[in-house]
Amino acid sequence: MSEPTTATAATSASAADLAARARALDAADELGKHREKFALGGGSGQEDAGVYLDGNSLGALPAHVPARLADVVARQWGELRIRSWDESGWWTAPERIGDRIAPLVGAAEGQIVVGDSTSVNVFKAVVAATRLADGGRDEILVDATTFPTDGYIAESAARLTGHRIVPLDPAGIPGAVTDRTALALVNHVDYRSGRLQDLPGITAALHEAGALAVWDLCHSAGALPVGLDAHGVDLAVGCTYKYLNGGPGAPAYLYVAERHQDRFDSPLPGWNSHADPFGMTPGYRAADGAARGRVGTPDILSMLALEAALDVWDGVRIEDVRAKSLALTDFFLECVRVYAPGGRVTAVTPEAHAERGSQVALRCAEAPAVMAELIRRGVVGDLRRPDILRFGFTPLYVGFADVERAARTLADVLADIPPAGA
Ligand SMILES: *Cc1c(COP(=O)(O)O)cnc(C)c1O
Repeated sequence: MSEPTTATAATSASAADLAARARALDAADELGKHREKFALGGGSGQEDAGVYLDGNSLGALPAHVPARLADVVARQWGELRIRSWDESGWWTAPERIGDRIAPLVGAAEGQIVVGDSTSVNVFKAVVAATRLADGGRDEILVDATTFPTDGYIAESAARLTGHRIVPLDPAGIPGAVTDRTALALVNHVDYRSGRLQDLPGITAALHEAGALAVWDLCHSAGALPVGLDAHGVDLAVGCTYKYLNGGPGAPAYLYVAERHQDRFDSPLPGWNSHADPFGMTPGYRAADGAARGRVGTPDILSMLALEAALDVWDGVRIEDVRAKSLALTDFFLECVRVYAPGGRVTAVTPEAHAERGSQVALRCAEAPAVMAELIRRGVVGDLRRPDILRFGFTPLYVGFADVERAARTLADVLADIPPAGA
């Protein structure tokens, strides 16, 4: 019986050490001050706020958003009514908010329009990319492990346009792209494993073969630098309710590189994308610029909640966010190794920084029971069936003490839930 005693002593010594390290890291954290911008609960005298590690699925609420949205509803809608399309800036919101997102993804102004869901924007981007591509190219490369909606929509777009889908590991794109490739649709960060793809390298390889690069930024925008312009990305889409904290169902966005805008031919040319929407003419004439990516009347309430939410990024450098994100995920992986040894959980997310997004995915045979119990104990991550525990790290409101507590709670839960088959 002497061995377990030794192991316990070693573990508790490390635990004190990790807790102290967490305090020191939080004290030195320049981004820590942004946490108070969010409504996370647990203020003085309130109940335990818990640890929120699901901002990669639904970002937390910025505390000032309810009052701003209340004004949009009561004054802009309630009092000004139709006048708000002009006087409250409703009509121009899709491009104005696109320009707010632009610096976060490394885009100059005038290339991003906000509206519709990511799924709808994937459809616009894929079909438009086939129309931009040189004739005779009949293949669309798609990330084999893509978030399902991208795969479903690309498949339908391929059937509509007479293309063939080639599923593959994005790392294999440089070796697979040929003169038959029209485009590749790739998730910048894999939603399940947290793997970060080589956007510059893959984009360059596609261009070398004359193909277009369409990137889905759902799990990277707001978490790490993307560099759309710098790397010559052709088209991109992303959602705003994950790391951008826009709220449930917040509108997505579409990036069309300026050099493609004149030839961008939307498969959903709604009246909002017309050069003269209020001309109400029977013939379609596409608007110039990012507005060409619009479809119909924008969902103003969600859109203006998003616009308010983006205020949390004022004065924040995405490079600093990335540095903290890597420090958080490194620290989490280390805490899990110390607290939960014994092979019950295995990291699926790559160790290499260049291949890691802002989440950690752990494979665990008892994942469903473990995640349910973690949430009951105040540590909120999520489950991707059958066996992935997913933890998202949002540097503006997650700190190192949260990370240490999450790993310690995970170890406690594992100790209380017997291994499958035991
Ligand atoms: C979250 C996510 C989506 C979501 O699509 P919606 O149309 O907004 O529901 C799409 N693609 C990826 C890669 C995602 O991570």
